[in-house]
Amino acid sequence: ATPMSIMVAVGRGARAGVLVKDAGALEGLEKVDTLVVDKTGTLTEGRPKLMEVLVTGDWQRDDLLKLVASLERGSEHPLAAAMVKGAEEKGVVLEKADDFDSITGGGVVGKVGGREVLVGKMELMKDRQVMGWGEMLPQVEKLQAKGQTVVFAAVDGVAAGAVAVEDPIKESAKAAIDELHAMGLKIHMLTGDHAATAGVVAKALGIDSVEAGATPDSKMERVKALRAEGRVVAMAGDGINDAPALAAANVGLAMGSGTDVAMQSAGVTLVKGDLRGLVRAVHLSRATMRNIR
Ligand code: ADP
Ligand code: MG
Repeated sequence: ATPMSIMVAVGRGARAGVLVKDAGALEGLEKVDTLVVDKTGTLTEGRPKLMEVLVTGDWQRDDLLKLVASLERGSEHPLAAAMVKGAEEKGVVLEKADDFDSITGGGVVGKVGGREVLVGKMELMKDRQVMGWGEMLPQVEKLQAKGQTVVFAAVDGVAAGAVAVEDPIKESAKAAIDELHAMGLKIHMLTGDHAATAGVVAKALGIDSVEAGATPDSKMERVKALRAEGRVVAMAGDGINDAPALAAANVGLAMGSGTDVAMQSAGVTLVKGDLRGLVRAVHLSRATMRNIR
């Protein structure tokens, strides 16, 4: 590859909102046949809205929301922002949280007003042996079937309720997926989210396969397994949880709207967080490589 045409292509990419960090990424894009894509913040807006608060026993919705949102103020996750904003909009006054800890791809834990609060996915609740979800599950399933993400809340080790948030699909996502399919790519969605929620998004976009309940490690392993099958893999993601998978792909694509960690781990950044940037990048790469030969 002559540095000159690569440089021209990198410049052209930059003007179209595709920032190529290393020339290797541009070369890698030419032969990409598989896109592995994160859901939250990559296919969806990543700006979810609070939709519903479910409670068990004698809990009042606003009391539980106060504990949950007070704790979530310490988290960078888009789900956390939805809960905090939703609580504030309802006039719920938040308190200071102590001993905050976040479990990447799982949830958050800490103390609010002297009570231990745990918020996150069901697997996390199971790991920590929190019981008492039975009465809520039919409602939870209904919300998940609508494509909402439900996170569970335990207080002092006992099930207290759940919060449902909805993250709309990006307006540009369907067109991007359709074009990538037309270019012959297979598209796999990986998400830490629940299977039911993930399935609604995948179906709406016509995605070829879905893996839900994914962890940062399992995302990376999936990318490695596809490469071991001989596929040339582009991985697109926005979160800290995507960083290992971005680094393991032939080409990592970070959403410019996402976290710095994702951008550091990726060879390419899509400035506007728009996957149509990948379509442009592949065309650019193919044209450049053709020129060089
Ligand atoms: P994705 O792969 O869809 O971007 P993540 O791996 O970041 O999702 O998160 C996976 C799941 O972990 C979320 O769907 C949620 O259930 C839970 N989770 C992560 N962070 C938080 C948080 N701050 N509060 C509550 N739940 C969380
Ligand atoms: Mg994400």
